[in-house]
Amino acid sequence: MQNTVTPTHCPYCALQCGMNLTPEQDGGVAVVERPDFPVNRGALCGKGRTAPAVLSSSVRLTSPLVRNNGVLEPATWDEALGRITEALSRTRTEHGPDACGVFGGGGLTNEKAYTLGKFARVVLGTSQIDYNGRFCMSSAAAGGIKAFGLDRGLPFPLEDIPKTGCVILVGSNLAETMPPALRYLTELKANGGKLIVIDPRRTRTAEQADVHLAPRPGTDLALALGLLHLVVAEGRTDEAYIQERTSGWEEARAAAMAHWPELVERITGVSVPQLRETVRLFCEPESAMVLTARGPEQQSKGTDTVGAWINLCLATGRAGRPLSGYGCLTGQGNGQGGREHGQKADQLPGYRKLDDPAARRHVADVWGVDPDSLPGPGRSAYELLDALGTDIRALLLMASNPVVSAPRAAHIEERIKSLDFLAVCDVVLSETAALADVVLPVTQWAEETGTLTNLEGRVLLRRRAITPPEGIRSDLEVMHELAARLGVEKGFPTDPEEVFEELRRASAGGPADYSGITYRRLAEENGVFWPCPAEAPEPQQGGADAPAPPARKPLPGTASGTASAAAQDGEDAALDLLPDDPAGDAGPTAPAGARQGDAEPGAAAAAHPGTPRLFLDRFATPDGRGRFVTVTHRPLAEEPDDEYPVLLTTGRVVAQYQSGAQTRRVDELNAAAPGPFVELHPRLAERLGAKEGDALAVVSRRGRATAPARITTSIRPDTVFMPFHWPGEGRANTLTNPALDPTSRMPEFKACAVRVERA
Ligand code: SF4
Repeated sequence: MQNTVTPTHCPYCALQCGMNLTPEQDGGVAVVERPDFPVNRGALCGKGRTAPAVLSSSVRLTSPLVRNNGVLEPATWDEALGRITEALSRTRTEHGPDACGVFGGGGLTNEKAYTLGKFARVVLGTSQIDYNGRFCMSSAAAGGIKAFGLDRGLPFPLEDIPKTGCVILVGSNLAETMPPALRYLTELKANGGKLIVIDPRRTRTAEQADVHLAPRPGTDLALALGLLHLVVAEGRTDEAYIQERTSGWEEARAAAMAHWPELVERITGVSVPQLRETVRLFCEPESAMVLTARGPEQQSKGTDTVGAWINLCLATGRAGRPLSGYGCLTGQGNGQGGREHGQKADQLPGYRKLDDPAARRHVADVWGVDPDSLPGPGRSAYELLDALGTDIRALLLMASNPVVSAPRAAHIEERIKSLDFLAVCDVVLSETAALADVVLPVTQWAEETGTLTNLEGRVLLRRRAITPPEGIRSDLEVMHELAARLGVEKGFPTDPEEVFEELRRASAGGPADYSGITYRRLAEENGVFWPCPAEAPEPQQGGADAPAPPARKPLPGTASGTASAAAQDGEDAALDLLPDDPAGDAGPTAPAGARQGDAEPGAAAAAHPGTPRLFLDRFATPDGRGRFVTVTHRPLAEEPDDEYPVLLTTGRVVAQYQSGAQTRRVDELNAAAPGPFVELHPRLAERLGAKEGDALAVVSRRGRATAPARITTSIRPDTVFMPFHWPGEGRANTLTNPALDPTSRMPEFKACAVRVERA
C-alpha cells in the first residue's frame, strides 16, 4: 500500500470540489479534506464524502457482459469487443454510417469527450453523435453565444460573487445541488450584498434570500422582460455603456416596453411591488450579477429566456464589467468541458463549429484526415434518441443513463429496446445498460487521470489514486481497441496526457483554446482558466481606456491568484512550469473578448496565465459589442387545461445525483434520500383529500408516475415538484415534455401539465 495523498476532484457536479484521497488497508481510498483548492476550501457535500463507496460497490461491474438468448452473461473482453465491432461494421455496411449512433455524457473527462467525438467522425464516419449535456445547459450556451459571441458558464470566478452588490439567482437551488457553493452567497450577504432568488419553490436556497420571487413555472422570460421594462421606466439604464458596448438596444427596448408590470404580474404571479423592489436592489449597487441554472434554461424558450436576462445585464451596464455580469451555473461534473471538445452534434474540438470550413480544415489537419471526410452536424440528443430503432440501428453509449434522464422516458426506453444493437460503457448496470447487448465495465474517477473544466471555465487535473480492479478498462482503452478493430490503427492513444496534448493542438486558436495548458501546469497551479493560448499575451498598457482591474484579493494557489501575485513580483510564476510546448507552432491568439484578466499593467509574461475574467475589454462578437436579443413572452409548450390542470416541475435533492446510477448505490445517500416524492401545497392536498405520505399518481400526456405525498407550503398551489433521480414507477421523466427549444434543442424538462390523483 502506497502511503501517499493524492489531490484530486469529486466525481460528481460542476463545482468539481477538491479533495484528497488517502489509501486504505483494503486497497480502497478514503476522502480527506483538501483546503488548498480555492473553490470549496475543503468543504464537501455528502455525495463527495461518500464517493469512494461506488469504487468498491458490490454491484460494480467487473467483467464485460454479452446478451445470450436474452440474458446478459459474463464474457471475455475479446468476445465483447468482437461483438461490438461486428455489429457496428454490419450496421454501416447495411444501412450506412449514420445508422450508427454515439451518445456521450457531461461526466466524461475532456480527453474522453474529445476522443469520443473523434471516434464517431473518424472511425464510424457518422454525424449522429450528441450527449446528455444537451439536456443540461444548451440553452445557456446558445444564449451566451448569441449575446457575447462566446459561451463559458461563468465568465468570472466564483470568488467574485461575494464582492458584488447584488445577485439575482434564477432557477437554481445551490443549497441542494452544490452545497459548498452556498458560502459564496452567505459571504455576499455578510458583505452587505443582496440576494434575490427566483424559484417557484421556497427552497433552502430561497430561504437565504433578501427577496424570493416565486413565479409560475415557465414564465421567467416574462419576468425578465418586466424587470427590464421597469429599468427603462425608472430611468435606470446605463446609456453610455449601451452606446459604447452594445448593439440592438432599440428593438429589445421596444419589446420590453410591451411587457408592462401589471401584465407581467398577471403572467408570472409576481406582484408589481416585488418587481420594483427587485429592480431597486439590482440597480442601486455599483456591481451586480444574474446567475441562471436549469429553471429558466430547460424550457422550449430557454435560449430566449437566457437572452432576456442577459438583456437586463446589458441595459444596466453589468456585463463585461468587474464583479458584474451574467453567468450560468453548469450542472454536470464536466458540463463545461464536455461541450467544448467535439461530442456535441454540431461542434468540433475547441468549441469550433462543425459547419465552418476553416474549423474543419484545422481539426482534420490535427487528426490527419481529409476535411471532406468529416460528416456534418447530426441530430440533437432527444432527436437522436427518438430516431433509435428507425434511422439509427446501433448505438454506442458512454456515461449516460437516458432511460431515467431523458424526457418522455418511457417512449425513449421503447426506442432503445427497438435498436438492433446497443453497447454501453458503465461502472454499474444502470437502467440503460440493463437493456444493452454488450456492457463494458470501465474505470472510475479515482482509478484514472484526466482533466475536467468546472463551471468557472477552470481546467482541472483529476488524478489516478488507485489501481482499478482486475478486468476493468478505461473508456480510452475501449475506444483504442474498437478503432483498431474497425481499421483505424493510429490516433486513439490510451494515455490521457497524450490525448490532452492532441486536444491542445486541436483547440488552438478556437474559442475554447487550451493550447497553453499542460498537465504540469494544472498540477502546479491548481487549475487554469481557458482561454489559455500557447502564446503569452502582450503586456497590458493600462491607461484611461482600460477597465479597472477587479477589486479583489486573489486567493493563494488559484490560477488568478498565482498570476496576480507573480505580476506583483515582476515575473510570471507560470514561466517555470511549462515544458516544451508541442502546441507552440499553432500560433493561436486569444479569441476576441478574452482579456488576460489578471495580468497587471506592465507585467511581462512568457506563458499565458489563463483568463479568469472574460469580456472586460470587449465581447467576443465580430464588432466586440454585446448583442441585445429581441424576445417576447410566449406560453409553455403545454399549458394546464381542464384535463391536466396542474404544473409539474422537477429537480434534484442533495443526496442524489442526476439519474442516480452512482448515488443510488451508496447506502448513506439512499438512507438520506430513499426514493421519489411528490411535493404539493396543502390547498392542493386538501382538494385531493391526500395526507402526508399518501401515494399519489401524477399523470401527464406521456405517462404516469407514482410517489408519496410531501405536503409543504413552500411550493405554489398550482405546481407540484418531483425529483428525477429514480427509475420505475416514480420516474419523473416519464411525465416530462420533450418539446424542444428551436435554437438549443433543449427539451422543456422544467414544466408540463399534469393531473394529480390518489394512487
Ligand atoms: Fe462538491 Fe458537487 Fe462533489 Fe458535492 S457533488 S462534493 S458539491 S463537486
